[in-house]
Amino acid sequence: MEDTREACQQHICTTYARLPVTFVRGRGCRLWDDEGREYLDGLAGIAVCNLGHCPPEVTRVLCEQADTLVHVSNLFYTRPQVLLAAELTRLSFADKVFFCNSGAEANEAAIKLARKYSWDRYGAGRFHVVSMKDSFHGRTLATLSATGQSKVHKGFEPLVEGFTFVDFNSVRAVEAALTDRTCAVMVEPIQAEGGVNVPDPGYLRDLKALCRERDVLLIFDEVQVGMGRTGSLFAHEQEDVTPDIMTLAKALGNGLPVGAMLAAPGAADAFVPGSHATTFGGTPLVASVALEVLKTISSPAFLEGVRSVGAYFAGRLRELQARHPLVREVRGRGLILALDLDRPAQHLVEKCLQRGVIINCTHETVLRFVPPLIIETEDVDRLISVLDEALGEETP
Ligand SMILES: *Cc1c(COP(=O)(O)O)cnc(C)c1O
Repeated sequence: MEDTREACQQHICTTYARLPVTFVRGRGCRLWDDEGREYLDGLAGIAVCNLGHCPPEVTRVLCEQADTLVHVSNLFYTRPQVLLAAELTRLSFADKVFFCNSGAEANEAAIKLARKYSWDRYGAGRFHVVSMKDSFHGRTLATLSATGQSKVHKGFEPLVEGFTFVDFNSVRAVEAALTDRTCAVMVEPIQAEGGVNVPDPGYLRDLKALCRERDVLLIFDEVQVGMGRTGSLFAHEQEDVTPDIMTLAKALGNGLPVGAMLAAPGAADAFVPGSHATTFGGTPLVASVALEVLKTISSPAFLEGVRSVGAYFAGRLRELQARHPLVREVRGRGLILALDLDRPAQHLVEKCLQRGVIINCTHETVLRFVPPLIIETEDVDRLISVLDEALGEETP
């Protein structure tokens, strides 16, 4: 075959503007390209490889299960799926889990469950969902309709009916948007794609109280910020609140495609045989891997490590802010961190890449850092020094 990048242009739908690197190998926080060059990974495949690349214990479980049983469909019982569900419910507010293969699918399941819950109790017509401006919930038709960014909608109208968007971090805006047709409020505990926006303390708790009052289900999309990313297993744990429904995906399988929708007692029972389905969801292969991932990430010592290196990283970002006036703000929690710049930031991603460091830009002006959660302070220092250099080349 011809050159990888040319072949990609030729044979793969061009839905991505890819960076000019072909990766062939990964280990921990390091990646290597096809020319043998080493990179420090500050992105983790977009907050997916939380245990780093190819962690030995996960690889061992993956290989053993691949050699035992990969898939039989959900027409039968399989042990790893049940063990994973039991562990997810033990570690959360939830009563039951629906497994799928991606974040968008988990959110599809959440939206369907909320509609069905409402339909069971109140009949037809109560299907509206209040969502947030600058949110991101996926790219299927329902989840892009739930996403509060017009650039994601453009060209795909008509959208799925019933989604309204209000300002993030405003309980009053949600209250004003609730009607007798609302079945759910959907929110990311920290908006990730939307620029790493952390709401004020009490916001999520007040949303829950409001939803309770109106018998509206509260959905937390923890696809990106769950699984240890913020220094607790689930981001909402730090806000002293639980949702009715939570969605997970990205880091749940450390790179294997697995999503989950978790539902509280009461809400979960709206799904009955025939309500929803998936061929692949929760195969023995992904479930056994996710169980191993969950075991590691849920340990208090591991989460303490995330909080500690996250605090160190945030401190070093604030040093950059003090040195470079183009940095407007440092945001984030645990190991989802960001620098908001006074200008578009994508070219800085490219500059860092040329220096062997992978970072990301989201929401135009925001540099986002979501490294593997196993990153150590020496690696943070390397990332910071490369970024410092790149920021130093900017005109004031
Ligand atoms: C990535 C993401 C999704 C979509 O997940 P996919 O696996 O790409 O479908 C949904 N919600 C949030 C918050 C995400 O970060």
